[in-house]
Amino acid sequence: MDRIRGMQDIFPNESDKWLFVEGVMRNCAETLGFGYVRVPIMEFTDLFCRSVGDLSDIVQKEMYTFEDKGGRSVTLRPEFTAGVLRAFLNISKDTVLPAKFMCFGPCFRYEKPQSGRYREFFQFDAEIFGGNSVAADAELIFLAKSIFKELGIFDLDLQINAVGCPECRAGYRDILFSYFEANADNFCDICSERLVKNPLRIFDCKNKICKKICEDAPHTIEHVCPNCKKDFEQFKLYLNVADVKYSVNSRMVRGLDYYTKLVFEFVTRVQGSDLTVCGGGRYDGLSEKFGAPNFSATGFGIGVERVISVMESLNFKFPIFNKRDLFVVSVDDFSTEAVKLVIKLRAGGISADFDLVGRNVKSQMRFADKMGYNFTIVLGPEEILNNKVEARRMSDGAIFTLNLDENSVDSFYEILNHGGL
Ligand code: ATP
Ligand code: MG
Repeated sequence: MDRIRGMQDIFPNESDKWLFVEGVMRNCAETLGFGYVRVPIMEFTDLFCRSVGDLSDIVQKEMYTFEDKGGRSVTLRPEFTAGVLRAFLNISKDTVLPAKFMCFGPCFRYEKPQSGRYREFFQFDAEIFGGNSVAADAELIFLAKSIFKELGIFDLDLQINAVGCPECRAGYRDILFSYFEANADNFCDICSERLVKNPLRIFDCKNKICKKICEDAPHTIEHVCPNCKKDFEQFKLYLNVADVKYSVNSRMVRGLDYYTKLVFEFVTRVQGSDLTVCGGGRYDGLSEKFGAPNFSATGFGIGVERVISVMESLNFKFPIFNKRDLFVVSVDDFSTEAVKLVIKLRAGGISADFDLVGRNVKSQMRFADKMGYNFTIVLGPEEILNNKVEARRMSDGAIFTLNLDENSVDSFYEILNHGGL
């Protein structure tokens, strides 16, 4: 049966990379005091329309939206922020602020599948609620930096921008509208609508002509209010003291409507082309759009597939989790003895396996070889009688003798440490 386009099956070996990367992300976040949160994979569609924005590419073209059996419109999450904020607002009264949360899981966007772009993709997400100073934004940068460092990704360009707050957005919007209006006939259909409703969104269009028009548009940073400027300077100071390099990209508005004040992206390179691995920013005011009190909020999402592809291109040495220490080959009627030994060794933390299909000794050996077990032990009448087995190292056929007594787990450890791997 066909797999849905733009979605992936991930098998052992490949999944080891995933477990490793997820583990590193969670460890780094725990070290910085972020708590792990799980939220549903689906939300009411309205949540994303109100947050990500009706005019965003995500809502316009990319959402997996359908009616559930009760006739309600639901959507597979295209990103985490909206759902995490919704969840936080339900417990905000009992939560000590600032609250630092992290999540990990799949997101869904109906995009054209290509390298680094899938329809189901995984995000690591971090959010800080109730951190109203730019120190919270800096904290997110510190988290992302520590994750990328642990994953061996150093060739990173942190791009930052000030996109204005409700105080100055309207003024900038008018300036932008006047500039774009002169080009009104050349925009794509969606941008023509954006021009009237939210001209800032035009910056995020991928259409070539729209992009060209954006090149000479007025810069956000020159039109934001003194407060936004002050915050932007303070943010840069935090980055400087932590020795984090950045560049200002005054064209970056990001693809979601809810951003205010500060936005940022981490861009790296794979095979000569730029790849955004992390995007985020501040979204004060979104909680009010959800009908709740105002909470300041800031967050980011990291694209896990892209991170893994960068690590692969750098030949990162991923640890192997799927270890196979030992296969116990059983002879004829001695399969229960094999099971007994395997259970004992497993209880001692050794990765031991036994035959599940009733094969003869020869084909069990062949199977163990194919699967890459480090050792095999053949268990038959003689071994049981003498209480002694021979562990055979598969790489070179070396033999290690092992007593089948209460110390057999320890003895096997000895063999693994001195003769194995
Ligand atoms: P892009 O401009 O590449 O479309 P975006 O701005 O839409 O990215 P965000 O909404 O900021 O992306 O999501 C955060 C991160 O998730 C991105 O930086 C990227 O690494 C990853 N990401 C986004 N969309 C996809 C996708 N379709 N497939 C794989 N990863 C994705
Ligand atoms: Mg996108």
